Amino acid sequence: MGNKVTKILVENNKAVGVETAKGNKINAKYVVSNADARQTFLKLIEPGKLNSKFLDCLNQMEPSLSFFQVWLGVDMNLRDKGITEYEIFCYPSYDLGYIYDSCLQGKFESGCGICIPTLSAPGLAPESKHIVSLIYPIPYDYKERWRTENGKRGDSYRKLKDEIKRQLIETAERVIPELSEHIILSEAATPLTLERYTQNSKGAAYGWASTPDQSGTNRLQPETLIKNLYLAGHWTTSGGGTITVAISGKNTAEMIIKVHSKSPP
Ligand SMILES: Cc1cc2nc3c(=O)[nH]c(=O)nc-3n(C[C@H](O)[C@H](O)[C@H](O)COP(=O)(O)OP(=O)(O)OC[C@H]3O[C@@H](n4cnc5c(N)ncnc54)[C@H](O)[C@@H]3O)c2cc1C
Repeated sequence: MGNKVTKILVENNKAVGVETAKGNKINAKYVVSNADARQTFLKLIEPGKLNSKFLDCLNQMEPSLSFFQVWLGVDMNLRDKGITEYEIFCYPSYDLGYIYDSCLQGKFESGCGICIPTLSAPGLAPESKHIVSLIYPIPYDYKERWRTENGKRGDSYRKLKDEIKRQLIETAERVIPELSEHIILSEAATPLTLERYTQNSKGAAYGWASTPDQSGTNRLQPETLIKNLYLAGHWTTSGGGTITVAISGKNTAEMIIKVHSKSPP
């Protein structure tokens, strides 16, 4: 934990370990990467170790949408206001095409996801207080990459972030009236924040976009072109989601155990 891998060590087309940012080399019989697929193949593996057709294909694939997120600490008793569901999707219609298009355009008044973890786990906040988190799917390149200047987050970035936070709180007031009057603390994250913390390309929330040509077997498989290097997680065939990535990890582990029992390296 807290150790960035900077290199997957490959000898004779076989993964033999990893190197970390602290300069440690860790030998391993097998390497499993659930990191961003572009990072795994374009950054962590030395150039020249993989065929260019595969790398071109990887470069052409499209990451999924990211999220704008808001977390609030509020001093209001939500149960007294009749709010008992810990997850609420607040959208004006069931037309998913319309909702998706609204998200691409950043129509923050159209709706948002509301999650209130303290309704299912009250111990997460003091009595009569709650955590309210708001999420809104959004592209990484919204407003010229969030009004960054030469990749840097300056005043324009922060202003845009604050404005969207305000708009989403207003949208959530359709479900939780007077929410804005009860905020004790607030925090927000853009797709750039997600990219920074998860290292997922473009802050992708679900790995590759779940389009038909990038789903199921069209996604990356657990086995790679490099022997003993395996993949798991949302960039692989099971796709995005916490349960699917857990299953993907289990499947990859079982695959390695099977391979190892037949012919250990
Ligand atoms: C805001 C948001 C809400 C979501 N809501 C839901 C939901 O309600 N239900 C659901 O099922 N799914 C949801 N998802 C999707 C789900 O969270 C992801 O698909 C899933 O967590 C991906 O898991 P993973 O293990 O593949 O990758 P990640 O969770 O991205 O894990 C990869 C890990 O590798 C680490 N890492 C990356 N590079 C390196 C490196 N070089 N060295 C060392 N470590 C590295 C990262 O720090 C990270 O910890 C949501 C995603 C987001 C962003």
